[in-house]
Amino acid sequence: MNIRIYKTAKLRRKALEDSLHLNLPNTAHFSLDEQVVAKKHCENMIGVTQIPMGIAGPLIVEDKEYYIPLTTTEGALVASISRGCKAVSLSGGVSICVSREGQTRGPVFFVASIKKGKEVSQWIEENTSLMEETAKKTSRYISMQQVVVKSVGQYVFVRFGFDTKDAMGMNMVTIATEEIANLIEKENGVTCLSVAGNYDSDKKASWLNFINNRGFQVGAETVIKKEIVQKVLKTTPQQLFEVWLAKCMIGSAMSGSMGFNGHYANVIAALFIATGQDPAHVVEGSMGVTTMKVLANGDLYVSIYLPALIVGTVGGGTGLSTQNEALQILGAAGDGKVEKFAGIIGGAVLAGELSLLASLAEGSLVTAHQRLGRGEK
Ligand code: NAP
Repeated sequence: MNIRIYKTAKLRRKALEDSLHLNLPNTAHFSLDEQVVAKKHCENMIGVTQIPMGIAGPLIVEDKEYYIPLTTTEGALVASISRGCKAVSLSGGVSICVSREGQTRGPVFFVASIKKGKEVSQWIEENTSLMEETAKKTSRYISMQQVVVKSVGQYVFVRFGFDTKDAMGMNMVTIATEEIANLIEKENGVTCLSVAGNYDSDKKASWLNFINNRGFQVGAETVIKKEIVQKVLKTTPQQLFEVWLAKCMIGSAMSGSMGFNGHYANVIAALFIATGQDPAHVVEGSMGVTTMKVLANGDLYVSIYLPALIVGTVGGGTGLSTQNEALQILGAAGDGKVEKFAGIIGGAVLAGELSLLASLAEGSLVTAHQRLGRGEK
């Protein structure tokens, strides 16, 4: 069946039904404007996958209250994050630090020899202003921040870092990088093998992203009073610390994990899908380190660190109606809001860490999933 000959999602869906001898329910129901979505977001569209959106909170981040939209089918997740939000907020909220690290694109060039590789690397390092001008011509909002060059054998890898303002920026940086790559080819007589050569490194977990950061670097911290740990999280600071040490530190080291954390990916995925981020960037978002310490007064210090949070409040899927509503719930839709959005994500991740580690410490993870994830009594 050539699905491309069908002009609309409904016709395509009908053809699929006939060809697979299936009767797909809700054929007529489309909650997104097909004209908009088919143009910019999804080819060969046949329908809309519905995933429920829940709300966790309130969560106090830097003295302001937020409700966190979470899109998931994992029963117990929203309730758990909400419990974490309660513990954090009753303790006065979370403090955050966000820094813009830049979106990266990393082309790879083929060169004849290591000597030519060195020559090309030098040219790139000496001509950053020319490349910056070239990038600026491709977008009103882009500026080049960083160029890192590495050559090996007959390959030269470059990692360009760009400020893309309020957009996550992967389309913007790819367009800009292609223009820069054309310039490098012309001036150096070399060939760009791929505009994306994995030195970016996009949608791959990598130590380069972990150490040098990508997108936004986010830190969040709080101190949970021991009474609140007991009352809300049903455990003690010491028990929480022991689970964190065994699981997030030693367990992660034993498994060679890049995630020294409980479950960043759960919170990041649910928030990314809710707010129109590219879900594949959960890969970068799953990396990071949670720390915990029992303080002299018995309270619990907790922090999270996201080295490579890839988000935007403009562009990509952020303009789709439900996704934009989710951003509006956070007061983070549109221009000038992306740092704030990144910070709220940091706060939500911290709340999620606290609650999961507490349920492991108190031994309620299984029963919570049986009750909320399977609907059992
Ligand atoms: P985009 O929607 O392609 O581009 C952002 C657009 O918003 C640009 O047209 C930009 O203007 C405009 N804009 C308006 N106000 C802005 C502001 N305040 N700050 C920044 N831009 C503003 O989105 P993108 O963020 O570049 O790319 C995201 C998309 O890329 C996602 O859909 C993702 O799935 C996809 N993606 C692409 C690749 C790839 O290789 N191309 C890889 C991974 C993901 P200008 O026209 O002046 O720039």
